[in-house]
Amino acid sequence: MIATKAYAVQSPKSPFAPFEIARREVGEHDVLIEIAYCGICHSDVHQVRNEWGGSSYPMVPGHEIVGRVARVGKGVAKLKQGDLAGVGCMVDSCRVCESCRRDLEQFCERGAAMTYNGTEMDRKTPTYGGYSSQVVVDERFTLKIAPGVDLAGTAPLLCAGITTYSPLRRWRTKKGDRVAVVGLGGLGHMAVKLAASMGAEVTMLSTSRSKEADARRLGAHAFALTSDDSTFKKLAGRFDLIVDSISAPHDLNKYLGMVRIGGAMVLLGVPPTPAPLHAFSLIGGNRSLGGSLIGGIAETQEMLDYCAQHEIVSDVEVVPAGKIDEAYERMLRSDVRYRFVIDAKTL
Ligand code: NAP
Ligand code: ZN
Ligand code: ZN
Repeated sequence: MIATKAYAVQSPKSPFAPFEIARREVGEHDVLIEIAYCGICHSDVHQVRNEWGGSSYPMVPGHEIVGRVARVGKGVAKLKQGDLAGVGCMVDSCRVCESCRRDLEQFCERGAAMTYNGTEMDRKTPTYGGYSSQVVVDERFTLKIAPGVDLAGTAPLLCAGITTYSPLRRWRTKKGDRVAVVGLGGLGHMAVKLAASMGAEVTMLSTSRSKEADARRLGAHAFALTSDDSTFKKLAGRFDLIVDSISAPHDLNKYLGMVRIGGAMVLLGVPPTPAPLHAFSLIGGNRSLGGSLIGGIAETQEMLDYCAQHEIVSDVEVVPAGKIDEAYERMLRSDVRYRFVIDAKTL
């Protein structure tokens, strides 16, 4: 086993503290990655605090992992020592079910092995995430990262990037589409950058007036405050697509009123409690309400290649491991510009 430094929580209420984990020896198809950076996703906060139920401890979160390949097994063809590589939300799946064969491993019928707060496919070995110094992953669940990219800014693409790229592609975002992004955090700022890069006319819908200038710098063409009720009237029926990244409970019906006839709203955020939905919010405009969960490995690679080509990275604030708790508190106050990323050298 490979002794690995990490930061873990021992219960939903305990703070982060140094913790040692054991990574498996590098198998024939495995890649050992020396982690350089790991993003802090709001899903880490939900799971650390057991807001979705079923969390297991000790927990080492982190599914926005980038680093350098230190060693590969004999059978590995995708990467070699010294290459840059990434790992996102999954580290394995059954590989043979219909979802896996359709490159939708996140919906593996046996349940994908999530990068942390889960188990390997043996359903026994706990998985530990990227708040750690190294990780061993089967090559099929690694991603190639182009040399020369900004590594810290690339880490959040592994979750926030793919989670926003995938629905924008599924709803065929193109030049001139009116896209609204709700919530300017980790996911939201990637949605703005990506939708703008696809030619959409992007409106940022935020509760934070202080983020307006940033929203425009990130590529938004318009900004509206959702804490002002007149926004919902002014923008009624306006958008082809609304990308909703809010992490807390909110009234979906109000937002659906801003979708144009035949348009759609896609939920990305996972608030801890369910939201009431009036059928008329959908029926009264032939509207659709959808959801989207990360993306498969092939699409994640497509997104990374797209971002490298379009020079898109995340706006990050790099923090030392000792400040993870503080970063969580700031993220909960929407005080994130726009992704915290842990520098693995500080573990
Ligand atoms: P984040 O960085 O904390 O951003 C969330 C943003 O939502 C905040 O910055 C804030 O934006 C807005 N917001 C927060 N509380 C709000 C409230 N009470 N009312 C209205 N707006 C509020 O979080 P994130 O990492 O982007 O993640 C967002 C959500 O997506 C989380 O629930 C996370 O678990 C989920 N997620 C889902 C997937 C998936 O596959 N579907 C993947 C990753 C994450 P403003 O300041 O602009 O209002
Ligand atoms: Zn995430
Ligand atoms: Zn499967």
